[in-house]
Amino acid sequence: MLQKCANPGCTVPFRSLREGKLFLAETFSNDLDPDCDGNRRKTRKREHFWLCGPCSTHFTLYFDATLGMLTVPLCERAALRSSATRSAVASAA
Ligand SMILES: [Zn+2]
Repeated sequence: MLQKCANPGCTVPFRSLREGKLFLAETFSNDLDPDCDGNRRKTRKREHFWLCGPCSTHFTLYFDATLGMLTVPLCERAALRSSATRSAVASAA
């Protein structure tokens, strides 16, 4: 599972837990195998994701129920938040 950095655009292989940042995600996978239709249930599984050192300083991981694991730039999140605040202030003025 932990073969490389969770950032799709990064190819840094996983080496050590002391580098970067480790994330634990709880995902629910619907078991829709037609052979066991009468036994359909949600399987809870835990997955680990790792961001390498450089990526963990620029990105964080966000887990969406439908989209799965997303790599979110930290600066973009901050920029979105500040621009939203700025436009709210502008419309109020
Ligand atoms: Zn990386």
